[in-house]
Amino acid sequence: MEPFRIKTIEPIPFPSREERVRALAAAGHNLFRVPASAISVDLLTDSGTSAMSAQQWAALLSGDESYAGARSFERFETVVRDLTGYREVIPVHQGRAAERILLGAMLGAGDISVGNTHFDTTRASVEAAGATAADFPESQSPASGFGGNIDLDKVERLLCSADGARVRCVVLTITNNAAGGQPVSIDNVAGARALCDRHGVPLLLDASRFAENAYLVTVRDPEHAGVAPRRVAREMFTLADGCWASLKKDGLANIGGLIALNSQEVAARCRDQLIAVEGFPTYGGLAGRDLEALAQGLDEVTDPAYLRYRSEAAQWFGSRLAAAGVPVVEPVGCHAVYVDAAAHLPHIPPHELPATAFANALYSEGGVRVSELGTLVFGRRNPDGGPDLPAPRELVRFALPRRVYTSNHLEYVAEAAARVTAAKDRIPGYRVVEQADTLRHFTAVLKPLG
Ligand SMILES: *Cc1c(COP(=O)(O)O)cnc(C)c1O
Repeated sequence: MEPFRIKTIEPIPFPSREERVRALAAAGHNLFRVPASAISVDLLTDSGTSAMSAQQWAALLSGDESYAGARSFERFETVVRDLTGYREVIPVHQGRAAERILLGAMLGAGDISVGNTHFDTTRASVEAAGATAADFPESQSPASGFGGNIDLDKVERLLCSADGARVRCVVLTITNNAAGGQPVSIDNVAGARALCDRHGVPLLLDASRFAENAYLVTVRDPEHAGVAPRRVAREMFTLADGCWASLKKDGLANIGGLIALNSQEVAARCRDQLIAVEGFPTYGGLAGRDLEALAQGLDEVTDPAYLRYRSEAAQWFGSRLAAAGVPVVEPVGCHAVYVDAAAHLPHIPPHELPATAFANALYSEGGVRVSELGTLVFGRRNPDGGPDLPAPRELVRFALPRRVYTSNHLEYVAEAAARVTAAKDRIPGYRVVEQADTLRHFTAVLKPLG
């Protein structure tokens, strides 16, 4: 059960079926364009959607809004130093600001950043610096439990090749968001550390879900069974030279991010840029009260009871969807459950967007919002004007906001998914009628076929 009880509540909207169908059509059949006031259960993202604890709300009132040297910064800095062991701590307003500043300070034209899989905003910052992002996810059976690992053999081959001298950093995203939120093992981080040492390259962590990664290490790696998640997290931070994080995830708050590292020299360059784009180094684009809520959130997020509940709730929800006849991608991580829409809706070819079709059917049926991670997001417009070039997979993500929904809400979602599944052969595909050149999924206008 949830290891907390509820003190403050927020009513849920229950639009009628007619209202839902109308809202979806008015939004161009794109769930990003549907107003939250027309959503009953919102599983679009786990980013910035956490519920804060009573202690976090209380901490807000002690926020020190001094421009320079605020007490709230000192508390934030102490908590981050204690958690990571890194000396230099720089707050930013969210993860992508950290990426733009840190990667901008480390990368230049022609450089290469190597990763297990760069998250899309990370890749954008690498490319903005004129560098290239090279992904080497390990292609092993997910049965290992560490489907987020980097392929160390491939990284070594690159480092030993003529291009090796252009590699400026190795980035491990924990958990690997682009690989379904699968964790990275301690052995893999240690292996990357050894490789980086041999080649004189810094190792960085994109630590947005560091606590979830640490917890999954304690349940999937027998050598770390029973170890406190906070200790596992510290072990990972110690193996790397620095990190950044979107604190909209494991910061358990609604906004925030950080850069933390050992190198005073790199930190000084980051602070110069920070002042230009975010603010003074003791607030970095955040209010003092945000720093208080984040400091408290970073203390709470490694609570083993919370992490166990989070992981087990995701697994349980995955099993409820599977029992409803929905093909769930195994193993389930912590922050989301992924569904294979291509397997579920074989009558809809990739260019007719099966993942979008399932997501839209689920909204029409139950007012549930999930996100498509298929051809609408990762596919490309065909330069010859033919059908879209498909994504590698047609996934639908049921993201789980932290501490927001109870198992009853998730049961409601599974029941809606079961009703959609019972009539799945009649779900129509979609065609894109208007789209932007980049990140088209946020704004595209779609039309159902048939
Ligand atoms: C969310 C996220 C980011 C970007 O952070 P924002 O706070 O959304 O700017 C970067 N990396 C990973 C792995 C993320 O999940």
